[in-house]
Amino acid sequence: MDLFEHQAKELFAEYGVPVPTGKVAHTPQEARAIAEELFAAGSQKVVIKAQVKTGGRGKAGGVKLADDADEAQALAEQILGMDIKGHTVHKVLVEAGSAIAQEFYFSFLLDRANRSFLSICSAEGGMDIEEVAATKPEAVAKVPISALTGVDRAKAREIAQAGKLPEQALDGAAELIERLWAVFTDEDATLVEVNPMILTTDGRVMALDGKVTLDDNADFRQPDHAALADEKTTDPLEARAKEKGLNYVKLDGTVGVIGNGAGLVMSTLDVVAYAGEEFGGQKPANFLDIGGGASAEVMANGLEIVLSDPSVKSVFVNVFGGITACDAVANGIVTAYKLLAERGESVDRPLVVRLDGNNAELGRKILDDAGLPGVERVDTMDEAAKRAAQLAAAGA
Ligand code: GDP
Ligand code: MN
Repeated sequence: MDLFEHQAKELFAEYGVPVPTGKVAHTPQEARAIAEELFAAGSQKVVIKAQVKTGGRGKAGGVKLADDADEAQALAEQILGMDIKGHTVHKVLVEAGSAIAQEFYFSFLLDRANRSFLSICSAEGGMDIEEVAATKPEAVAKVPISALTGVDRAKAREIAQAGKLPEQALDGAAELIERLWAVFTDEDATLVEVNPMILTTDGRVMALDGKVTLDDNADFRQPDHAALADEKTTDPLEARAKEKGLNYVKLDGTVGVIGNGAGLVMSTLDVVAYAGEEFGGQKPANFLDIGGGASAEVMANGLEIVLSDPSVKSVFVNVFGGITACDAVANGIVTAYKLLAERGESVDRPLVVRLDGNNAELGRKILDDAGLPGVERVDTMDEAAKRAAQLAAAGA
């Protein structure tokens, strides 16, 4: 999950990383009130910043400086509702303006290729860092970090020096970098980026921007992270699936897909897309892995989520029986139909079921005996995918 700049800065502040004083506004009036407070507290300027989860806001006109509260309100009015690379601005950060002497670039990230962490630092930060990296790679230092020793003050200073930061910024930058390492590790982030990290005209080093990506796989030990999720930008079906503990990703086709095991579901998506070409380009409508020990309830929840998507015209249930044998899955499907009927969510679209693997014969018999309306059994994955695509095309 990516954080908004204001969330990243709130996190930074908790770890003692210096950031400008500021608050979030959803309306021009709110922006004005915050600006008035900041001017009253002695700010010479305030900055209004679009809060969207994409970079390049400055170049898009989403970051503006105001000299008084009237101007702050007018700028907020201009920036709210703006579209920046397909992201609508719903809120702005109103901050005390900083007097910038110099802008640097700094980040910690996961270096998957080298199976370690990496820090990147440059004295030539700001809005053109991509350009600097492309044309002057020697100006961008890449310092590997050992997961065993991490980053202490000395290592932090070494990184700042490698980035060729000026002498008067080294102490401040080292302190900031050491604290950002705490953010990175304690919060289970895969990216912490500060561009620009600035040296102010009065000699302080601060984080003027913040981009943080949190590792969702660590959610189980980061209970505070749920509050950072952004309802507006997550798909409502994905949010509901997550509440039910389902591994669901919304796609834009017509064939609902349910399978057990991520690898099987991935290949099911391919097979459905391939089979769908014959039927006017039917495609998978979702990824849903109900996992190894799929119970009737999990199957019912899965069917309910998949069928809540109005673009789904048929469903392909692809199960390879392993530890959870096919008979258990077949019983799960039968019970799921009853559960859904009780919930008033009867299955109203055709279901193609392929059962193979452990106890396949028994599972198939259970399904056949149950005679569920709209359920067709097909024995091979390719044929089942074809039938599901054909039914989707007929229902579209
Ligand atoms: P981005 O373009 O999305 O990365 O947004 P940033 O937060 O990095 O802001 C873009 C640029 O706006 C920065 O590189 C600064 O040059 C400028 N900027 C942001 N805040 C201030 C501020 O308080 N004072 C001044 N003078 N410039 C600022
Ligand atoms: Mn930036």
